[in-house]
Amino acid sequence: MISNLMPTYARTDIAFERGEGVYLFDDAGRRYLDFAAGIAVDSLGHCHPHLVSALTEQAGKLWHTSNLFRIPGQEKLADRLVANTFADSVFFNNSGAEAIETGIKMMRRYHHDNGAPERYRVICCTGAFHGRTLATIAAGGQEKHLAGFGPVVDGFDHVAFGNLNELRASITPETAGILVEPVQGEGGIRPAPDGYLKGLRDVADEFGILLMFDEVQCGAGRTGKFFAHEWSGVTPDVMAVAKGLGSGFPVGASLAVEKVASCLVAGTHGTTFGGNPLAMAAANAVLDVMLADGFMDHVTRIAQYLAKSMTGLVSEFPELFEEIRGQGLMVGLKCVKDGQNAAICAKLTELGMLTVLAGDNVLRLVPPLIIEESHVDEAMVFLREACQAIQGGD
Ligand SMILES: *Cc1c(COP(=O)(O)O)cnc(C)c1O
Repeated sequence: MISNLMPTYARTDIAFERGEGVYLFDDAGRRYLDFAAGIAVDSLGHCHPHLVSALTEQAGKLWHTSNLFRIPGQEKLADRLVANTFADSVFFNNSGAEAIETGIKMMRRYHHDNGAPERYRVICCTGAFHGRTLATIAAGGQEKHLAGFGPVVDGFDHVAFGNLNELRASITPETAGILVEPVQGEGGIRPAPDGYLKGLRDVADEFGILLMFDEVQCGAGRTGKFFAHEWSGVTPDVMAVAKGLGSGFPVGASLAVEKVASCLVAGTHGTTFGGNPLAMAAANAVLDVMLADGFMDHVTRIAQYLAKSMTGLVSEFPELFEEIRGQGLMVGLKCVKDGQNAAICAKLTELGMLTVLAGDNVLRLVPPLIIEESHVDEAMVFLREACQAIQGGD
């Protein structure tokens, strides 16, 4: 008989009861070092005091009013996102997939409003992940996500990630824009090759199409800049943000430059829950911490320490690991043999450390951005023990 809970996930049989900083505690009181962070979501760790007080204060005042009324928290968060990014305007959603959908709709609407309604197609990359709605599985283009859910939403073309020639050749009079993750997450922690984002910007400008970045996973401080594309010096026309923005409270945001954002006039798009006062209190509190002086320097410093430690691990276990890849606190350990990422992940969980799998046989480390060197040292102890066990055939 089916469980009351739909069998959508292959869940690990652990239930966590509480969290504190970089640690989680299960219902038996066992402690886990959390280098999964709810899949790159808990950017400030668990129960950060500033977030707890911001959210509980808001919870005692007002939860929801709908977007039929002004929401001051949205105005404040939009001001701060605009002041700190390329964007001129922001729309708030509840999730990453919704933030992507909004961006895709904006790109289509922009061309519609500018006399080119035939431009509706978006070029995406192989190995991409953009969410699980009908349009975002089409954008991701992964067979395992599309199977059985056809017909596939029309309007997405795929080219190899990092290949500018192929991308340029795939542009047609129907192309509206390009949608790319500056660092592919689910696909296997692959940073865009040097010059790729700049090349995308140049191609988009040359052909009069739009450039959209999916920073749902790599954004919100994860790479040591507020947004990952900042490392390249290139700016997009549209960007989707979610995961780390609320540090565990569901919130997404679609950012855009004026010429694109101005197409979403009243009545063209909407959401009931998106940007409600609770979500805005959480995200504003996250930005209080994240935009404070020194925060990104901390991320970069600790990321360098983590990279150095992981490079050591990879050279210690060449039979297990092919390479380390990623950027900032988004690190992937590419395993040699198929399924070794899952074996190491399961062993680590058994020992008391949480990690996540990614595609391409990668073990993903996406710890809270507040980790210290001592947490990296602790992770190294767990990782060594797990690797020794796996290597020894345990
Ligand atoms: C997680 C993720 C999404 C989808 O976000 P949801 O909140 O699960 O809808 C989209 N893009 C990227 C890059 C992601 O990592």
